[in-house]
Amino acid sequence: MSCHDPLRAIDEPADAQAVRGVASTTSQLARLLAAQTDACVADASGSGAACWLRTDTWRLFVRPRLGESPNGDEIERFLLPSGATVTAVYDSGERCAWVPFNVDEAYENYVGERWRGGVNTRLLTNRQLRMYYLAKRLIPRRVQLAARRAYTKRLGLPEFPSWPLDDSVSRLLRFYALCLLLGAGAETIPFRWFWPNDFDSALILTHDVESGEGLRLALALADLEEERGFRSSFNVVASEYPVDHGVLRELRERGFEIGLHGLRHDHSLFSSRGAFERQLPALAVAAQSFDARGFRSPSTYRVHDWLGELPVAYDCSVPHSDPYEPSPGGCCSLWPYFIGSLVELPYTLPQDHTLFTVLRNRSIDVWLRQVDAITRRYGLIQCLSHPDRGYLADSEKRGFYAALLDALSERPRLWKPLPYELALWWQERDAGSPADRISYGTIRRGDDGAHASLVPPS
Ligand SMILES: [Zn+2]
Repeated sequence: MSCHDPLRAIDEPADAQAVRGVASTTSQLARLLAAQTDACVADASGSGAACWLRTDTWRLFVRPRLGESPNGDEIERFLLPSGATVTAVYDSGERCAWVPFNVDEAYENYVGERWRGGVNTRLLTNRQLRMYYLAKRLIPRRVQLAARRAYTKRLGLPEFPSWPLDDSVSRLLRFYALCLLLGAGAETIPFRWFWPNDFDSALILTHDVESGEGLRLALALADLEEERGFRSSFNVVASEYPVDHGVLRELRERGFEIGLHGLRHDHSLFSSRGAFERQLPALAVAAQSFDARGFRSPSTYRVHDWLGELPVAYDCSVPHSDPYEPSPGGCCSLWPYFIGSLVELPYTLPQDHTLFTVLRNRSIDVWLRQVDAITRRYGLIQCLSHPDRGYLADSEKRGFYAALLDALSERPRLWKPLPYELALWWQERDAGSPADRISYGTIRRGDDGAHASLVPPS
């Protein structure tokens, strides 16, 4: 059924429990904001199919609740594909914010990449992926790159998510925060700040090691980072090339982290449910032998809902927004989130390969603009790069990376943990313990009135 079916003008909510009542504190969106309130927010899905709801600058993929909104002050109006509108209102009689969709469904449809149901998807089929990996082995890299550039140019950027920055989750979060303010009848509401103490934003540096030579070259990249006071993770493929455990040991001893980059550098892990389940025991053995607590899928290929079953504490395969991968898409989020008990750490900067090889940028302007944009939103900056030849082993590209590190080292309110430390923090924040590491930001009415501002701890 279409979400704008005229026969459904009066739409029964799919989840009547959620229509009236206190905002859920267990939903993923509520856990992201962790607001200290029991505000009344009445949100519920409609019973039709999901579709895009739009404002001038924002879109979300949900099952809208059709029909009349209660009387009240308009919070935000959303346009449906049919041209009709639905409205979020503050019902002053009931002292409740009324939302014509389920806010958590909107959030989950972003981060779980279920928005793909509403766009013309470019996902490659299994057969195309097999050809892609075969071509990667057989065709000279120069020819591959020319083909990839032509392909990218022909298709242009997708309509969703925006690249390099997609504001969807940030907008939803601030919309939800405003609904809480109204539903609580409050001027301000405290919420658990995103990062420990009073850091504004967080940075993790991660590398995927594509070859045995890349693993040797990892040491030079580690030097470059260590000289500037940074540590990072190196994700290693278990059975693609000989793994020098001496190098892994040295990296660990110097404070770097080793993660797992699959058993083989191909799409086999996610090619079928059977293949996934067959590889899990070997992945667990490999993770143990590398002392790896994190995972990145080869070429970021993924089936989102299976990631939570990986035998690691965190995954970092999902981009914030990346149209340049064989699995294009993204979670649209600048913050970590949970897939079951696993913490997903989205990468949020364009990859080194995208910027310097595919797009042939000759500066780090895109990286720096993205860093500034994420910092303004108090999000997670995650840079994904590679130590191999053709990547940061090339002197010009290594120079770009060094310039990025130099720029980042000048930001005192940027938290720079290892990825597994950040994943651990995200679990602690979610649990609200230990209390002495958690500080509180403030939700207050934004200047535009239409959204809330998230103010850092003072
Ligand atoms: Zn890789």
